[in-house]
Amino acid sequence: MKKLTNIRLLSQVLIVAIISYIGVRHQIVGGGPNGSAPLDSYCPFGGIETAFAYFQTGQFLDKTNVSNFVLLISVLIMSFIAGSAFCSWLCPLGAIQEWLAKLGKRFFGRTYSFPMSIHKSLRHLRFVTLLAIVYLTVQGSRLVFEEYDPFKILFHFNFETTTAIVIFCITIVLSLLIDRFWCKYLCPLGAVFSLAGRFNLINIRRNTDLCVECGTCTKKCPMNIEVTKVTNIPADECVKCLECISTCPKSDALVLTVGGSRK
Ligand code: SF4
Ligand code: SF4
Repeated sequence: MKKLTNIRLLSQVLIVAIISYIGVRHQIVGGGPNGSAPLDSYCPFGGIETAFAYFQTGQFLDKTNVSNFVLLISVLIMSFIAGSAFCSWLCPLGAIQEWLAKLGKRFFGRTYSFPMSIHKSLRHLRFVTLLAIVYLTVQGSRLVFEEYDPFKILFHFNFETTTAIVIFCITIVLSLLIDRFWCKYLCPLGAVFSLAGRFNLINIRRNTDLCVECGTCTKKCPMNIEVTKVTNIPADECVKCLECISTCPKSDALVLTVGGSRK
């Protein structure tokens, strides 16, 4: 588990470094035929945004291209295998939120969370964001979300409007206080994974015979999953960060399963 945790950290550092490099390079070199591709071309969610325009007119929306389809299909295949693992292994915004939460914990001595009933209601906001973005993108035939997307603002220095600055500041402050605030409540790509990930192969199971119900896993879970109350961890919520398994004091009380068999 330690090895897997280290690989996950390495993967997060690499993806943040690569995306930062792409963002900075685009700022320096500029776009156009001889420039460097914009960050939008490296976003799987861009595949959803541009799909309607492509199937209607045969043209991609500005700043998107076939790479968005390739990325979208790749992450969807991945989500059928490992659910929302993309969020905690490969998403640069997910990594930044995780590091901010750790920083906040050091600073404030704790993380904050909403009462469970409010948390469960707020989780549906992701689907509202997803539907709103798809609707507005189809209506406007352009990437409407790019002006407000914290990913774009953070890695593309897209501080052009007051709204963008306000959204960015809110996301940063809330990420310091609440684990994965954006992932849990607002991320449209997270909503897609949560639908696709219901059928995924790799899951986490709690062995009720070995578990001593100490509650550490529930306390550690950044997605507020009540691990101690379930046998099979809900695949549509779990981002496979492995925090629960790596902090569980009882060996084999939590195990990774592949297709229902323990691995
Ligand atoms: S941390 Fe392990 S032993 Fe404690 S409640 Fe969770 S699964 Fe059970
Ligand atoms: S259940 Fe475990 S692996 Fe899933 S999000 Fe929570 S801590 Fe991470």
